[in-house]
Parts: sequence; C-alpha cells; structure tokens
Amino acid sequence: MSVFSHSRIDSFETCPKKYEFSYLLKTPRGPDGIEAFMGSRVHDALEWLYGEVKVCRLPSEEDLVGRYALVWDECWSDDVRVTRQDRTVDDYRAIGEKALRQYHRRYAPFDQGVTVGLEMRVGIRLDETHEIVGYIDRLVKASDGVWEIHDYKTSATLATQEKADADRQLALYELAVREMYPDAREVCLVWHYVAFDHEVRSCRTPEQLADLRAEILSAVRRIEAQSEFPTKVSRLCDWCDFRTMCPAWKHEAELAALPAREFELEPRVALVDRYVEVGERLRKLEGEKDALCEEIIRRADEDGLDQVLGSDHVLKVFRFTGASVPGRDDPRRDAVERVLRADGLWDRFSCLATASLTKAIDAGELPRETADRLARYVTTRSGARLYPRKRSQSSTGGR
Ligand code: SF4
Repeated sequence: MSVFSHSRIDSFETCPKKYEFSYLLKTPRGPDGIEAFMGSRVHDALEWLYGEVKVCRLPSEEDLVGRYALVWDECWSDDVRVTRQDRTVDDYRAIGEKALRQYHRRYAPFDQGVTVGLEMRVGIRLDETHEIVGYIDRLVKASDGVWEIHDYKTSATLATQEKADADRQLALYELAVREMYPDAREVCLVWHYVAFDHEVRSCRTPEQLADLRAEILSAVRRIEAQSEFPTKVSRLCDWCDFRTMCPAWKHEAELAALPAREFELEPRVALVDRYVEVGERLRKLEGEKDALCEEIIRRADEDGLDQVLGSDHVLKVFRFTGASVPGRDDPRRDAVERVLRADGLWDRFSCLATASLTKAIDAGELPRETADRLARYVTTRSGARLYPRKRSQSSTGGR
C-alpha cells in the first residue's frame, strides 16, 4: 500500500526537487521557520483548550495564553529561523498570543458542538494500493447535526471564499469522515484564520468529492511515475529547508562563503558575466543588422537594383509577394479551419503539433493506453538551455 498525504502531494506540486529531498531522499530538515514554529504552538494551545473542555473544564483567556507561553518556552530553540528581516521572534510570539485571545473571546464557552476528535488521524483509501492519511485539527458534531472539520490557520494572508471552495485538504478529510461515520448527512469544512479572527466555511457536493478522489488518485500515480525531480524556483524558496543544498541555490550558498574580493574572480561568476555581456552585444548587433537590412532594401528599391555590391560580398535582394494566412492567435483562424474541413482539405494542410504532443507526454497527460502505443516511436532527448535573469537583492547577498 502506497501511503501519501496531502502535504506530500502539495510538496511535489510546489517543487519536485523539494519533494525528492523530503520524501525520497529523506534529507533531514533544518530547524523550523518561525512561522511554522508559531503555528505549531497555537495548534498545541488550542488542542489543549478543547481537551480541557472535553473533561468539563473551562480555561480562561489567561489560562490559554499561559499554556501558549509554556509550550513556546518548552519547544523553543535558538535554531528556529527568522527569514523576514523586518520581524523579530517577539513579534511572532505576540501575533500568536493575540490570535489566541481573539479566539477565546469569540468562542468561549466553546459549546458550539461536541468535539469528536483532536489532531485526529484519518485515512482515505483511494484504491487497492493507494491511501491518503492526514490529521484533522478538530472534528466536531455541531448542535444542528452537521459534522464540521475544523482547521486552524496562522498565516498572514486570509483565504478568499473561492480558494476555500477549491481547497483539497479538508475535502479529502471529508471523504474519510463520511466513511467513518456513514450517518453524517451534512459535512462542513471550517477554517479559522486566527490572526484575522475570521472563519471561512465551505461545503462539497457528492460530485465534487468523487472528482476530487479521481484527481488525487491521478496526481499520486503521476508522482509515482516520475523519475526526474527538477527544481521549481519561486518565492517559497526563501522558506525552503533544503535551499543551501538545492541545485538552484547551492552556488549562492558557496558564494556567500567567499570573501568579497574573490567574488568576481570565481570562475562560474566570470563565465556568467561574460555570457550575459556577449548576449547583450549580440542583441545590439541584431538590431543594427535589421536596420542595415531595411536601409539597403530601401536604397535598392530607389535605385532599381536586384544586387548590391560590397568590397568582398554581393547582396542579392530577394523580393516576394505571396498569400498570408491568419496565424495561430488570429481570431479568423477558426474560419479558415472550417473552410478547409468542409472542403475535405484539412488532412492535407493540418499537421501534428509536435511541441504540444511532446509536452503532453512529458507531463504524463496522455491516456495510459495512448502513451503505451506511442512509446515505440518516442525517443528521449536531453539537453540544457540557459535563461539569464537579474539576481534579486536577497540572492546577491548585498554584493
Ligand atoms: S530551494 Fe526552491 S527550488 Fe530548491 S528545493 Fe527548495 S523550493 Fe525547490
């Protein structure tokens, strides 16, 4: 049985290389980032709160923030990473405390439903060989008989309703809850954005749940079929545990360790600088060449010449007039296609879109049967291209 989790699938979709480090190579993670650390402590405090409520105790607001302070101090390590330079550890600690105070004021005496489970492990069997497991922050049977799957979010951004309606994680947990409690007629997904003192709710139809199950199964199969795990650079790299060993950022880490005066002499830095410089010169020269071409044709037209002589070369002026068919993005293209199809000429003028087909094969988007039948004609190519872009301030290390 292959066991996946939503965060495992999400990790692959965020960056295949991160997935490889984390789940295949099992590379030890560095210490938590402060955002994750604060989020875990808020979760700890809320889990404790509802554990107390379950045994008929009612912790005060001070008890709740006291518990938060206790677990913060117990779990704290100076290795916890603070990525944002404009924030301190105390800022994050205060954000968590404020969120818990707001939560307590909003929900005390916490009698909105019966807590069925806290940090509850659930499993969803996708087929005979694949299972998804996860943990529900709090499962509740509300007074109106609706089952609620609660999730606490400490993020600094508030999800829109649209995003909540498209969320896969809690919807997957709904599949598990419905299997465990077949009498659950109505299930509601509830996110507590505690920093905003705000609740977002969403419900799923049976059709949406069936689609989700199929979508997740196909995502899992796609991941299992992968043999390459490329890097996917994004702003999330700033929070990635594997940044210093990642092929996309390893060079940056090596450069950061160099004395400033050795930076430009480093052989790979010198090569990149030269490559960019040559590229810029080529671009300029291309522009110059186009302008010369226009000028020579204009003169040749004026003087009635079909050939123009240089010191060692002759330029032949090739003039042409011909039909121009609407290009790929031209709205009239569909009309052209319809005419050709209607007149039985489509097969003669259409051709295989090799680039699109290649992309679909690489992304595993073709039906398995089609991919199998094509396999004998498809060869593997490999190569590399270079895409220059300006380095951001954070990746120049101030240099
Ligand atoms: S640093 Fe960025 S590119 Fe590298 S593994 Fe992490 S998320 Fe992926």
